[in-house]
Amino acid sequence: MTSSHQRPKHIPTRMCISCRSTGAKRGLVRVVRTAEGRVAIDITGKRNGRGAYLCSNPSCWTTALERTSMQSALRLSTFTEEDRATLTSFARTLTLEQPMTSGDVSTRQHGG
Ligand SMILES: [Zn+2]
Repeated sequence: MTSSHQRPKHIPTRMCISCRSTGAKRGLVRVVRTAEGRVAIDITGKRNGRGAYLCSNPSCWTTALERTSMQSALRLSTFTEEDRATLTSFARTLTLEQPMTSGDVSTRQHGG
């Protein structure tokens, strides 16, 4: 008996440390603590170090910074100003991703 397709029971679940939601549509962004004890955005998700996941929702980033939940997740006593700048600036790029409606709703096509 050989089972070629053996599914691992352990499924890596990514949970936002802010709103604690899992399986976000756009995926979660990984924040990693570097060996120097600094905070970095890990786009690839392959960097070594303790990491924390957050939604692509900028409000989650703001909340995580305010409640220091990100610090505890990364096992950091405190953030430096540069760390905060890294995170807040990244959160701003997430805000820009959101589509802006310019109030132009003239005609709607009813396609089925
Ligand atoms: Zn979230």
